[in-house]
Amino acid sequence: MSVIAGNWKMHLGPEGTRAFFAGLSLDEVSGDHELIVFPPAVSLISAREAPGRDPRVHLGVQNIHWEDHGAFTGEVSAPLAVEAGASFVLVGHSERRHLFGETDDEVARKVGAARRHGLVPVVCLGETLEERRAGRVDEVVLRQLEAVLEALGTEGRSLIAYEPVWAIGTGETATPEDASGAHATLRARLGEAWGREVAGGVPLLYGGSVKPENAAELLIAPDVDGVLVGGASLDPVSFARIAGAAAPRGR
Ligand code: PEP
Repeated sequence: MSVIAGNWKMHLGPEGTRAFFAGLSLDEVSGDHELIVFPPAVSLISAREAPGRDPRVHLGVQNIHWEDHGAFTGEVSAPLAVEAGASFVLVGHSERRHLFGETDDEVARKVGAARRHGLVPVVCLGETLEERRAGRVDEVVLRQLEAVLEALGTEGRSLIAYEPVWAIGTGETATPEDASGAHATLRARLGEAWGREVAGGVPLLYGGSVKPENAAELLIAPDVDGVLVGGASLDPVSFARIAGAAAPRGR
């Protein structure tokens, strides 16, 4: 089973969302795989109610606030996202961390809010180009993981997305070996914290310029359990081709 997730970022309003689902055919996609899309919050209801939406496609929200309600203009909370149809949430996406200054501590609080309301967190982490050049990949991803370990706990499901910042939206893709290396580091730490069996069941996704052309080689790499796709997930044909590239009954 592989997880194929699409982060639409600030694209596809309610109309575009309906058009996406109208154009999405999963005929070539093995029923083994778990598919998730993360539309903008304003499009969640449109996604939930899109005529003919394949029920295999789960919905998520791209960000939440750590409080449930209150005077936080412009924010969306976990209970509001659940009410609109989300069952997953992206937490700590690099654009949140780097463009909006989200800290490790805030990411952990958001994970806590997701847990309280039964949203499955997809925790995003990854190094910048500068950090990679300085040989600090493991240090950075382990710091980001450490910050959320307690909030994640082992009671609910967790997904982790390794997304090197230099590969997001740039057309630069990590090699399958780069992805496997970082994933092995993350898996080993999860194993220390939670035991090998639990750690083995946490899907580790790779994200960063995944396209139909490179999805298959990434999806068969050791310790890569799925992909988180930005730009190439906006087109239903390309999203379905990426999902179709995942081998049935893979890890
Ligand atoms: C992302 O937004 O998580 C992402 C990986 O984007 P892209 O595929 O466009 O690089």
